[in-house]
Amino acid sequence: MTTTIRVSRVTDRTTVLGPGLRAVIWVRGCPLRCVGCVAPEDLPFDGGTPRTVDDLAGWLGALPAEISGVTFSGGEPMAQAAGLSALVDRIRADRDWSVMSFSGWTIEHLRTHGSPAQRRLLGQLDILVDGPYVAARHAALRWRGSANQRLHFLTDRHSPPERDTSAGIELHLRGTGVEWVGVPPVRDFRTGFESAMADQGVLLAPSHPSPQEGGR
Ligand code: SF4
Repeated sequence: MTTTIRVSRVTDRTTVLGPGLRAVIWVRGCPLRCVGCVAPEDLPFDGGTPRTVDDLAGWLGALPAEISGVTFSGGEPMAQAAGLSALVDRIRADRDWSVMSFSGWTIEHLRTHGSPAQRRLLGQLDILVDGPYVAARHAALRWRGSANQRLHFLTDRHSPPERDTSAGIELHLRGTGVEWVGVPPVRDFRTGFESAMADQGVLLAPSHPSPQEGGR
């Protein structure tokens, strides 16, 4: 059986969603509904692009060796745990990838109530950022958008950052537009950013990235 992952978008290089240089896969669909999620258009499970594990593994495998990690964001990566776990198996057969994922569920929930696939993916991660985005607790923290969200270093591959501060936002040129990547350090970033860009006559890429306002 061909395993597919429903993908909203990907990027092949960023420094703001995990340690080092990383690729990112934003999956489509999330069963949670955090108030202030910056990507409501990505919450339905339909839409996006179904991509096979072979296809995504081929894309990652062709990236230069300096891209040492991949981060799963979304949407809810744990909602597509079986496909992402199979992808990790595939890519680590060729390269010692660092793997990080966001999840709106806590690690305790995943460990006690997670499906076998979710617990398997959890066991493959180097870093998990867990918990839902809580707008009332918005904070400029490393790779997280609200203070309830936690960084779990699940292997000894990486160390916690010396300063737990925002990694910032990157602007990427894509086609004729601009897209942004990262965890917004301020609330309502998306609205303000889009307004400011429109004022300057700058086009946003059609499906500009939507790391959830809360560090997803
Ligand atoms: S912030 Fe993350 S967990 Fe919450 S609704 Fe958005 S995608 Fe889902």
